[in-house]
Amino acid sequence: MGGASPCASCKLLRRRCAKDCIFAPYFPSDDPHKFAIVHKVFGASNVSKMLQVLLSFPFPFPRENCLTLFFTFRKNNGI
Ligand SMILES: [Zn+2]
Repeated sequence: MGGASPCASCKLLRRRCAKDCIFAPYFPSDDPHKFAIVHKVFGASNVSKMLQVLLSFPFPFPRENCLTLFFTFRKNNGI
């Protein structure tokens, strides 16, 4: 145990992936392409900012709609 591969975001950002990593549910290691797109478009700091928003929702945000949310966020914030 403990040898789990880091999620896609931690891998790309070369960070240590914590057990409660906020990125992990949205950017699993088996789907690195998704985070690569988001990272390229928004940059790492904006991605964490958006994930904070995501996590403040009182219900689990569907992963499938994650990218949609990111792009809506970008539009609304003029990023
Ligand atoms: Zn992670």
